Amino acid sequence: LHLEVQRTEKIHIVGQLAASVAHEVRNPLTTVKGFLQMLSQDSHLSSEHKYYVSISLEEINRANSIIQDYLSLAKTDVHIERLNIAEEILFIQKSVSFYAALHNVLLNFHHPAFKLFVKGNREKFRQVLLNLIKNSVEAIQQKGKGKINVRILKKDKQAVIEIEDDGIGMSPEELQRLGLPFYSTKESGTGLGTMVSYKIIESMHGEIKVISKKGKGTCFSILLPLEPGSE
Ligand code: ADP
Ligand code: MG
Repeated sequence: LHLEVQRTEKIHIVGQLAASVAHEVRNPLTTVKGFLQMLSQDSHLSSEHKYYVSISLEEINRANSIIQDYLSLAKTDVHIERLNIAEEILFIQKSVSFYAALHNVLLNFHHPAFKLFVKGNREKFRQVLLNLIKNSVEAIQQKGKGKINVRILKKDKQAVIEIEDDGIGMSPEELQRLGLPFYSTKESGTGLGTMVSYKIIESMHGEIKVISKKGKGTCFSILLPLEPGSE
C-alpha cells in the first residue's frame, strides 16, 4: 500500500513537469527532424547511410509521439471506440516484425479463432503493445538472441494479451520499481514506456500483471474488460 501511494505522488509531479518541458523538447526535435529529412533526399548518400537516416527519422517520430502520448494522459477528450484485439495485434505484428528480426528476435503471434472486443483509444492501445514488445526485444538484445510469444486469451469476462520473452528478466527489486517514472536500466532509456502503458490500461479499466525471473525472462499480461459481442 505504501508503495502505491508513493507511485501516485511521483506520477503527479512528473505530470506537471512534463507539461512544462514538453514544449522545449519539441522544438529541437523539429529542427533535427528537418535536417534528417533533408539528408534523406541527398543522392550522394550510400544505401547504408540512407537506412541509418530513416531509422533516425523513425526514432525522432517515436520521441515525438512519446511526448504527445505522455501529455495526452491528462486529456480526457480522446476518441474512444470498439477495438478488435486481433486486428490491433495484426497491425502491431506488421509493424514490429522487421524490427524484431533485425535484433535476432523470433516473434511468434498466436491468433485465436475467437473474436474479442475491448473499448479504448486505438493509438494509445497500440502504443501499449509497442512499448511492451519493444521492451521484450531490448531484454533479449541484452542477452544475444531469443523469442517472444504474443498470445490472445479469454479469461472469465476479460481479454488477456500475453507478451512473453526469454530475455534478461528482472529481479524482485527491479520488478518493484517497474512503472515508476524515469526508472530505466538502459543507457538511452526514457523510463516512461511502462508507466505510460500502465496509465493507458488503467484508463481502459484494465490492469497489467508481470511475472519475471532474472536471467530467465518476463511475461506481461494485459487484462481488459470484454465488450459485448465477443465470442
Ligand atoms: P525504458 O525502456 O526506456 O528503459 P520502460 O519504462 O519501458 O523504460 O522500462 C523500464 C525498465 O523496466 C527497463 O529499463 C528495464 O529495466 C525494465 N523492463 C521493462 N520491460 C522488461 C522486460 N520485458 N524484460 C526485462 N526488463 C524489463
Ligand atoms: Mg521501454
